[in-house]
Amino acid sequence: MRSFDGDKIVLASHNKGKLREMSALLAPFGIEVISAGDLGFDEPKETESTFAGNARIKAHYAAKQSGIPALSDDSGIMVDALNGYPGVYTADWAETPNGRDFPMAMKKVWDLLEAKNAPAPRTARFCCTLCLAWPDGHDEVFEGKVEGSLTWPTRGDLGFGFDPMFVPVGYDITFAEMDPASKQAMSHRAEAFAKFMAGPFKDINT
Ligand code: IMP
Repeated sequence: MRSFDGDKIVLASHNKGKLREMSALLAPFGIEVISAGDLGFDEPKETESTFAGNARIKAHYAAKQSGIPALSDDSGIMVDALNGYPGVYTADWAETPNGRDFPMAMKKVWDLLEAKNAPAPRTARFCCTLCLAWPDGHDEVFEGKVEGSLTWPTRGDLGFGFDPMFVPVGYDITFAEMDPASKQAMSHRAEAFAKFMAGPFKDINT
């Protein structure tokens, strides 16, 4: 596994919720963190059908354009009774002509479960794939997930995306009711980050 030995990293995401969580996870390492949006990069099309495929597209695109290593996150929620959907298409399910509407997307998921009469618990998992890509085309990929179930009506206003309807296993509050540090300690993104820290970042002292 290649080590990260730079002092700057580009976050290949335009998603404010992800940028907030990824910046917080990188904060202890004293590395300059720049977002792809701040550099004026657009978002490449996510044309793959796997989290890893799309994470690679985003990280390589930002690394090539910036000339510095880039870290991307592709993530989503997989609902068992919907055969794993929306999965890699989670953000697409929220798309409207006026931007992303997650209350609408969560209702779409719940309505489908109701229409199927899916039994409780309506199990689901958040999945996250991180990709660190270098400008020379090398990359490393890290995956994490967190199991839980869906609840309705939605609860909480912390977090982002599908957090208000997701109750992680072992808890009775949603991710949107959990303080950010607690979510950060047990989320799909935290698990992928832990692997990333133990890999390319293992020689960097905090
Ligand atoms: P993409 O990876 O940018 O294509 O989009 C992933 C989508 O999955 C996000 O827009 C969110 O809706 C959802 N998602 C990923 N991680 C989380 C999370 O930690 N909480 C809530 N929703 C998430």
